[in-house]
Amino acid sequence: MNEFITIIAPVYNEEPVLHELYRRIAAVMDGAGETWELILVDDGSRDNSASIIAELHKKDGRVKGISFSRNFGFQEAVTAGMRYASGDAVVLTDADLQDPPKVILEMIGKWREGYDVVYGVRAEREGETWLKLFTAKAFYRVIHRITSVNIPLDTGDFRLMDRKVVNAIGRMNERNRFLRGMVPWVGFKQVGVYFNRAPRYAGEAKYSSYRKMFRFALDAITSFSYVPLQLATYVGFFIALLAGLAIVAVIIMRLFVPDTQLTGQATTLVAVLFLGSIQLISLGIIGEYLGRIYDEVKGRPLYLTEKTWGMDRIDNY
Ligand code: UDP
Ligand code: MG
Repeated sequence: MNEFITIIAPVYNEEPVLHELYRRIAAVMDGAGETWELILVDDGSRDNSASIIAELHKKDGRVKGISFSRNFGFQEAVTAGMRYASGDAVVLTDADLQDPPKVILEMIGKWREGYDVVYGVRAEREGETWLKLFTAKAFYRVIHRITSVNIPLDTGDFRLMDRKVVNAIGRMNERNRFLRGMVPWVGFKQVGVYFNRAPRYAGEAKYSSYRKMFRFALDAITSFSYVPLQLATYVGFFIALLAGLAIVAVIIMRLFVPDTQLTGQATTLVAVLFLGSIQLISLGIIGEYLGRIYDEVKGRPLYLTEKTWGMDRIDNY
């Protein structure tokens, strides 16, 4: 077995979990006799994560590190890790041990059977509130409905990718990245393995804020679907139809029904407010796409690297 496996974990204020993460991954990978490297991408942590990465690298050269100039976000951290990875297969995992390291071996097994992407499907989620479970479920269902990319249900970012998939993703330079959609988009042979998502080992979740999750959902939808842009058209046609019927009804009543009283300020007000709000929402939807187009046009780098450990170069794309 001389294939080389790269494991990437994004790190944002993960001081209390890093030693344990290294210990568990080393135990699992060495136990199976694999050749591996672990790339820890410090996404502008404000705690001591960076110095722990430096320490781990000193102790074991197979641990490598990248440190960003500030917090750029999960997708950017993972993208950087993939650009620096040299493995024949690359595994993405969270740093907080919610993705059990031993599942990586199962993924490697599937990869050796000939699959190019092996994604982790969450069979059960421990230690999460029902509201998070419910919103997550609803999110996957909506995405499935309105995009043409076949994004697997209940799948996070925990996955193994063959070198050719990593190279393909490397050529996708879009901003507001949504990897969970980009990986299925590239195609190749993909398969899922079930696993139970563990509670976070220590520290606090960074995605728990619903505002952040909402942004994430918007990125996902706008990156892979035009359906929201078409909604205004459909709603517009529907309301025009209703209005047309109403006009005919009013004319008929005026002409043929004696003593027709067509008053009602409230009705007028409700109709105007209703239409006004639909117009504002449509404008907002256009704004979401426009803002993203603006981001693309500016073409800023996705992230800036400040420092690396164990890498022979600094890529500042
Ligand atoms: N993370 C990151 N940058 C961020 C937020 C999170 O690199 O801005 C990392 C974090 O350190 C962890 C992973 O992304 O390794 C998942 O984050 P978290 O556990 O907070 O999310 P959840 O498990 O709740 O989805
Ligand atoms: Mg987590």
